[in-house]
Amino acid sequence: MNILTYFCTDNIIRLMSEHWEIYADWNPWHGCTKISPGCKYCYVYRQDEMYGSEISSQECRKTGNFNLPIKRKRDKSWKIPSGRIVFTCFTSDFLLKDADPWRGECWQMIKQRSDLWFYFFTKRIDRFIDCIPSDWGDGYDNVMVGCTVENQQMADYRLPIFLSMPIKHKSIMVAPMLSAVDLTPYLTSEIEEVAVSGESGVDARPCNYDWILDVRKQCVARDVAFRFHQTGARFIKDGKMYRIRRCFQLSQAHKANIDYKIGNYLVPETIKFEWKDSDYHD
Ligand code: SF4
Repeated sequence: MNILTYFCTDNIIRLMSEHWEIYADWNPWHGCTKISPGCKYCYVYRQDEMYGSEISSQECRKTGNFNLPIKRKRDKSWKIPSGRIVFTCFTSDFLLKDADPWRGECWQMIKQRSDLWFYFFTKRIDRFIDCIPSDWGDGYDNVMVGCTVENQQMADYRLPIFLSMPIKHKSIMVAPMLSAVDLTPYLTSEIEEVAVSGESGVDARPCNYDWILDVRKQCVARDVAFRFHQTGARFIKDGKMYRIRRCFQLSQAHKANIDYKIGNYLVPETIKFEWKDSDYHD
């Protein structure tokens, strides 16, 4: 089976549901600058605060794992074994300007490891064309890009740009969902999946289940895969607001059982931060 067949979307979804061990994280840099309303309570800042980091979260710096995809073990095998889905740059934004000097090396590693699938999300899709390597063409086969939008204004700004970009695998992440959103104009056959998520954290803004159901309806009408990823910390259903503890935000969304054409555990932006009960301050 070649890598393209292996990584067709159906296989990805099935593998995600059945085999958590096929994932890997790669954070070549850490730290990010807030650029839009969805960033207000950014999980990177919250995580840094929680762990008492002395470096400002907006100061982007290379991590010790910068070269992870091409690191080998003592026996010379890859540290990230072939076939993994690599969640890339989840403690920053892959298209952050501060990281421009380093991204070229990342693209080389991504190209070299064509046996891995690299998946990153961005709120900076308007920088995409300035960030791709010279041999990008119509996209690398093993890269999936998620365009993150949090409200209608950001959807109407970012998604037309996203649709015009040469990317082979595209997903939309509505997170943190701050208002009702009409994605209908953007749900073309290019979009492989849409995921929605409420906001986590002590100060989380409320997410209304009606907004989520509405996006689901739009996806079903266009036959685009849909996933309700997590409820967020303040969840409104039938006019009543519920406080949902962090440890239940994924499972409660899953229990709603409203995913469409998608596996149980497609993993979007916030998955890295599976806080323990003891970490939870809500
Ligand atoms: S773009 Fe993402 S990582 Fe960067 S500040 Fe906004 S929410 Fe945080």
